[in-house]
Amino acid sequence: KPQSWEARAETYSLYGFTDMPSLHQRGTVVVTHGEGPYIVDVNGRRYLDANSGLWNMVAGFDHKGLIDAAKAQYERFPGYHAFFGRMSDQTVMLSEKLVEVSPFDSGRVFYTNSGSEANDTMVKMLWFLHAAEGKPQKRKILTRWNAYHGVTAVSASMTGKPYNSVFGLPLPGFVHLTCPHYWRYGEEGETEEQFVARLARELEETIQREGADTIAGFFAEPVMGAGGVIPPAKGYFQAILPILRKYDIPVISDEVICGFGRTGNTWGCVTYDFTPDAIISSKNLTAGFFPMGAVILGPELSKRLETAIEAIEEFPHGFTASGHPVGCAIALKAIDVVMNEGLAENVRRLAPRFEERLKHIAERPNIGEYRGIGFMWALEAVKDKASKTPFDGNLSVSERIANTCTDLGLICRPLGQSVVLCPPFILTEAQMDEMFDKLEKALDKVFAEVA
Ligand code: PLP
Repeated sequence: KPQSWEARAETYSLYGFTDMPSLHQRGTVVVTHGEGPYIVDVNGRRYLDANSGLWNMVAGFDHKGLIDAAKAQYERFPGYHAFFGRMSDQTVMLSEKLVEVSPFDSGRVFYTNSGSEANDTMVKMLWFLHAAEGKPQKRKILTRWNAYHGVTAVSASMTGKPYNSVFGLPLPGFVHLTCPHYWRYGEEGETEEQFVARLARELEETIQREGADTIAGFFAEPVMGAGGVIPPAKGYFQAILPILRKYDIPVISDEVICGFGRTGNTWGCVTYDFTPDAIISSKNLTAGFFPMGAVILGPELSKRLETAIEAIEEFPHGFTASGHPVGCAIALKAIDVVMNEGLAENVRRLAPRFEERLKHIAERPNIGEYRGIGFMWALEAVKDKASKTPFDGNLSVSERIANTCTDLGLICRPLGQSVVLCPPFILTEAQMDEMFDKLEKALDKVFAEVA
């Protein structure tokens, strides 16, 4: 039997989303607990987690108020469902709260255990709704390349990543549009305005080619997260929304990362000034203290679904733990903590400082671009700055940077040729300096090796 924690992990666990050559080189970090924005491993080493876990631990790893809210609810009522006309009081209160803090005047909420399931649920709602309204052919889903919407068969089909081909995905009927990343996909001599106009034309041509009456909905993250932190090109949502409205295609904002403060506002769609028909939430919803997702429907979709459900008598969908009372109690507390205990305010206050440091770091010849907003940013490594030529993929530059950071006690995430920083909202100025000092050391070491 293996002895060390690392060997035990590597003998019995199957790893998801883990670069195996990198793992074999570096080994597993087995984590026992956290302190504020830091995690601590079995060997007592502390790492500043500039990933917030997986973007979700926005209040850090030991927030007492959240732990107390969970404990109190476990003592009151540790578990229940939301089927057959029953649901917990916490579920009732959370739905009320989510509609209240949503950008909608009225609405309804449906719960899942994850962001992937929330996207799946939304797709099934749209299929159900269109069929009930006599348009069963309205089933295609529009998303964008580089989008990340999850890993279940439907949400992975929505995700615009080539790696899903190993599963034979996407499923038929999932159509991907150009990623709105001007720096990377803008053509020679094309202005940002012309780029956005081209993407709007592509959308309209796609709708006409596929047939508007075959399209169930359009899903977008306000800022693409796992695609490499890609804020939309300027004016993107303002250019595409009228086209989606013209063809009567519901617009869904996937706020699994952007929601509850990550961009500085409660919602990414508020930051980018567009109103969707529904919002997908997860991760920050419970500050990562409970696995939970939610579909928040705006007034029009709520009304139409109510009518459809009454006609069919039942919406045959839901999970055993949908609206779990402990998850709901934690979410109620998390919303309060982020919005009323200064966490979102801290993101707004420190975002300019974040950007200032990145701007300086990006003066290096091997950084092509820095991009982001609020507390979600990326640096993109390039072999040649002027031509934006990437490094040879075999060099695994971003993985090397992230591994070097890990050695220095900093967790950051390699995504393509980018390194992503999305720390917990509780980060202090001193912790931000620690993050950047370690990152700069790692960048200089790796660029000296590969450039
Ligand atoms: N949507 C977005 C925008 C995400 O970033 C993620 C996860 O990273 C998901 C959906 C899927 O969420 P989950 O991993 O909880 O299934």
